Amino acid sequence: MTRALLLALAFPAALVAQQPTQPPAGRGGMGGFRGGTQIKPGEECPAGMTEIRPRTCQAPEGTAPSIVDYRPVSTLIVPSVGMKWKAKFPVVDFHGHPTNAQLGSPEALERFGPTLDSINVRLMIAANNTSGDQLVKGVELVKNSPTMKDRVRFLTGISFNGVGTPGWAAKAVAQLEADAKAGAVGIGEISKGFGLNAKKADGSRLKLDDPELKPVWEAAARLKLPVFVHTADPQEFFKPVDNKNERWLELSLFPERRYPQDRYPSFETLMTERDNLFKANPKTTFVTAHMGWHANDLPRLGKMFDEMPNVYGELGAVLYDIGRQPRAAHDFFVKYQDRILFGKDSFQPEEYPYYWRVFETKDDYFDYYRNYHAFWKLYGIDLPDAVLKKVYYANALRLMPAIKVPGFPK
Ligand SMILES: [Zn+2]
Repeated sequence: MTRALLLALAFPAALVAQQPTQPPAGRGGMGGFRGGTQIKPGEECPAGMTEIRPRTCQAPEGTAPSIVDYRPVSTLIVPSVGMKWKAKFPVVDFHGHPTNAQLGSPEALERFGPTLDSINVRLMIAANNTSGDQLVKGVELVKNSPTMKDRVRFLTGISFNGVGTPGWAAKAVAQLEADAKAGAVGIGEISKGFGLNAKKADGSRLKLDDPELKPVWEAAARLKLPVFVHTADPQEFFKPVDNKNERWLELSLFPERRYPQDRYPSFETLMTERDNLFKANPKTTFVTAHMGWHANDLPRLGKMFDEMPNVYGELGAVLYDIGRQPRAAHDFFVKYQDRILFGKDSFQPEEYPYYWRVFETKDDYFDYYRNYHAFWKLYGIDLPDAVLKKVYYANALRLMPAIKVPGFPK
């Protein structure tokens, strides 16, 4: 595989750069050049111009559409499987956030079943930190449903309020024990607020690796509850919002997603604290949400998996990074097939088929469902069935022994 081809796959615009750099002979030679602006090697074109020949910049005629409005229609014709509504194997969605629309009443729950069936999600894990009476109510609701009793399970939560006051850990551990007894199959999703802005009783930032939390992580290990933790956000959210930022559009649409460095810890500070937490509690199973925000740096995630056998990755909301590196991602999934769990995060049934298409096919160059996440196309990573089964359900079922439900192939 040539570097140019790889580049072209990742950034189709790079194809343009492979065109001959000299204008074709005849038909005017330099025809179309409207007088370029010259730049020095290493320089960038001035704003509003693009490099049309080496070190020659030119502005488009007329007004260029903004990146919000530029929607080129691909002319590529290539054999493809296309969108598949249902996953090839039944799926455990480890990262579910069902609301009252799904779990608010027995009727809502009944209606949830056919929706899950339509995409072949067999089991939804409600990662809503459901604890205490709420958990008991939720478990009862599911248990009493003849059609849905095997289709939903709950994660409990940890209240970080008051860390640093005497008795906090004992109380939190007692709650975990009660919730495990009530039917919780794990803990989470511990939100990104843990690390970004949660405070201790004394007002200082609660760090992820705070030793006062240790009894809780030990209880999770003892109770066989995996801990599902979302740390930080994509690294671009911590960087200046400028024309070099891959997430410029998202950060412009949702300014509250920015983490200005005078008000928040840096991405690397949070990653360091997270890794300290994982390493200091090797008997506790941690599932790092959104692949730890390293789906754009799989070598880094692989190193984490190698160094921390207690750590797993969850796939929610990072499909744009998986699908832009089909060969590297394929090899990564095969190598770490026991360490990856499917999860979707926000429940939009029409978005799941994009995941099935990336995981199950070798389709080329297709759209992702959110422009503001990714300015590029996706490619299928063509996983073998044995890997699909692990990622879709077997790894989740292994990590949460309290889940005993039928309907999954051996
Ligand atoms: Zn979530």
